[in-house]
Amino acid sequence: MLPPRSVLITGASRGLGLEFVKQFLQVPSPPEFLFATCRNPDSAKELQEVAKSNPSVTVLKLDVNEINTIEEAKKAVESKVGDKGLNLLLNNAGVNKKASLEEVTPAMMLDTYNTNVNGPLFTTKAFLPFLLRAAESSSPSEPSSAVVNISSIMSSIELNEKTDAYDYRPSKTALNMLCKLLHNELKDKGVHVGCLHPGWVQTDMGTTKAPLTISQSVCGCLQVMSKMKAENACVLTDYTGKPLPW
Ligand code: NAP
Repeated sequence: MLPPRSVLITGASRGLGLEFVKQFLQVPSPPEFLFATCRNPDSAKELQEVAKSNPSVTVLKLDVNEINTIEEAKKAVESKVGDKGLNLLLNNAGVNKKASLEEVTPAMMLDTYNTNVNGPLFTTKAFLPFLLRAAESSSPSEPSSAVVNISSIMSSIELNEKTDAYDYRPSKTALNMLCKLLHNELKDKGVHVGCLHPGWVQTDMGTTKAPLTISQSVCGCLQVMSKMKAENACVLTDYTGKPLPW
């Protein structure tokens, strides 16, 4: 896709989401509007610092489990992007309770599913009119609107040999199906749907044992995103551009 004019990122308080904000500010044509959303803007100190020195960054409250916060964020986004719509929705927010079979409870399953599947679904549903608007206002040969969902290699049924993360793995597998559904729905409307594995990364979720720095992962993800096209097939792709089996 073309360098996006406007981008909305969920879970931008820390980890990969915060780094996406920082690296979007450094691309050759940075977005005019960068909506960095998080559950608790007041406690997202580092994000607030970034926003202070970059007028293109708007910090908005958005808890993917609370529809009212999605609706409020939607109003704020519309007031800025207007007729040109939203070019990129990056569904990054996620949780991983890393529950073993012994630990897992129905509440954990529901909570993780709610954030990792319902979150991207209802955030996408809310912002879809703006994504469609951006796709319509771009040239037909260069559709410039996308939803990118941050999935995980841990979603892959084919690759899994482990017995961990009973809450997380199935939630990301369900997210993959959601990506495919949205792709089928939107492929002829100029909106690309991406499904990205960022690698195993040194965030709170990935821990310090992870091999990749946050910067390496996000740098790779941005390169992969720059090559996305609405008509491309929907595949689980890692941060180097390598396709992974579902
Ligand atoms: P992280 O450091 O734990 O950060 C998670 C982010 O999600 C935080 O900003 C958190 O906000 C936010 N979040 C959680 N629940 C939310 C909700 N209900 N509404 C809005 N935001 C919410 O994790 P990360 O490693 O950056 O993960 C980002 C994405 O990459 C996730 O989807 C994850 O599954 C995926 N991923 C990560 C790795 C890895 O190795 N790190 C590998 C594969 C995939 P608060 O600050 O408010 O808690």
